[in-house]
Amino acid sequence: MSKVRVRFAPSPTGPLHLGGVRTALYDYLFAKNQGGDFVLRIEDTDTARYVEGAEDYIMEALQWCGIVPDESPKHGGKYGPYRQSERRGIYDRHLKEILKTDYAYLAFDTPEELDEIRKEFELSGEVFAYNYLTRTRLKNSLTLSPQEVQQLIDDKVPYVVRFKMPVDRVLNLEDIIRGKFSVNTNTLDDKVLVKNDGMPTYHFANIIDDHEMEISHVIRGEEWLPSLGLHYLLYEAMGWQRPQFAHLSLILKPEGKGKLSKRDGDKFGFPVFPLNFKDPETGHVSKGYREDGYLPEAFINMVALLGWSPANDREILSLEEMVAEFDLNKVHKAGARFNKEKAEWFNHEYLKLKSDEQILHLLQQVRDLDLEGQSDEKLLKVISLMKERATFVKDIYNEGRFFFEKPAVYDEKAVKKAWNDAAVENMSALANHLESMSAFDPDSIRAAVHEFAEQRGLGMGMVMMPLRLALVGELKGPDVPDILNILGKEESLSRIRNAVDNI
Ligand code: GLU
Repeated sequence: MSKVRVRFAPSPTGPLHLGGVRTALYDYLFAKNQGGDFVLRIEDTDTARYVEGAEDYIMEALQWCGIVPDESPKHGGKYGPYRQSERRGIYDRHLKEILKTDYAYLAFDTPEELDEIRKEFELSGEVFAYNYLTRTRLKNSLTLSPQEVQQLIDDKVPYVVRFKMPVDRVLNLEDIIRGKFSVNTNTLDDKVLVKNDGMPTYHFANIIDDHEMEISHVIRGEEWLPSLGLHYLLYEAMGWQRPQFAHLSLILKPEGKGKLSKRDGDKFGFPVFPLNFKDPETGHVSKGYREDGYLPEAFINMVALLGWSPANDREILSLEEMVAEFDLNKVHKAGARFNKEKAEWFNHEYLKLKSDEQILHLLQQVRDLDLEGQSDEKLLKVISLMKERATFVKDIYNEGRFFFEKPAVYDEKAVKKAWNDAAVENMSALANHLESMSAFDPDSIRAAVHEFAEQRGLGMGMVMMPLRLALVGELKGPDVPDILNILGKEESLSRIRNAVDNI
């Protein structure tokens, strides 16, 4: 068998969304699982929909995810160029070939003429399609004489090239995920293959490139399934062997109904893009997973499981493990519902797998956190204590802010619950008790606080609650002896005495 070669072929019409990332990931996983190549091809023939910066965004997003192409506009390769806009000569060559067959014809109808006909159809309650029925009465090389056609070409009258859909043929199609199905050609229209500026449309350029780049498997979104019949016939027309196809189901909204759309991020409060994207026209910034604080390993693991079940219901898999396990036969036919809580769960699990030193490094990279003047030693202690309960790296700082700043205010409810005259008296005595300690490690602190409570005949709550309030400013946080230990003796005593004086 020839080498497995899989391509991801995005159009630079905007940022990649979750569905696009998943397609790229499955393309990559399948290619690597089969010992094959993963190719990135930029499909930029539709200049009207081109968005500035989109290609760079796609490259950067794939890189962040760790999905590295073997061949791409950036990485090069022997099947290049990898941007369709740079392959015009190749398409021209194949256009000549298909025009020699009975599968293509020239159509000279102007957009205005087609609009007219469309309106006529609408008036009689029908929908116009350029197809086996209507082409016999339109202005094209099937209805005009060869001389008339030549005259129009000589007169530089613009034309498009259309595919001549065969009449009443049943096409037997096959999809790796969906199995076999058939479609009658009478339900398909005569798609434009080459536009009047000479640029190929998606369909024509796509099959030419897949052939020229020796692509063995096309794995793409389900929105391309209706084009599969046309693509089969294009391969037939060109006399080429076609690749195998797999169409991936949609990613659905959290409630399970309808496709997750680009606007759903703003609506439901989670990113639908891997990285932040600033719309060059409106300036609107859409949130990305990276900027939201997701670890790329967690993100990619979450995306992989939107529509694929690894063996034994395993959930946490590294990219290498996913490559080893990936199987298109285990990709779901039904749509995959997006689940924000699950996405967060993945991040939490991956965070727990990191060493304290790794997290420290990540924490120091989080923007807008005021870590200046904090020693690595103290930060490591805070990380070790807080990481179990954190979803994101930044949570460690946000949830443990009291380690770095004295309480500026004391939570009102907490004060009502934990503070009274007895607390004032107990806390000032406790401060003296702690001051006399020589060691200040968590165990000694725990013992000292117990001893203090016992001597005074107090329940532990009577000591711990006001103590926590004095240290944290509210009744939350990890174990109080651990907080005392990290704050250190001097800072702890100052906070306790400050509370005694000020609450
Ligand atoms: N350029 C197409 C897209 O953006 C590629 C479809 C395909 O993979 O065939 O979705």
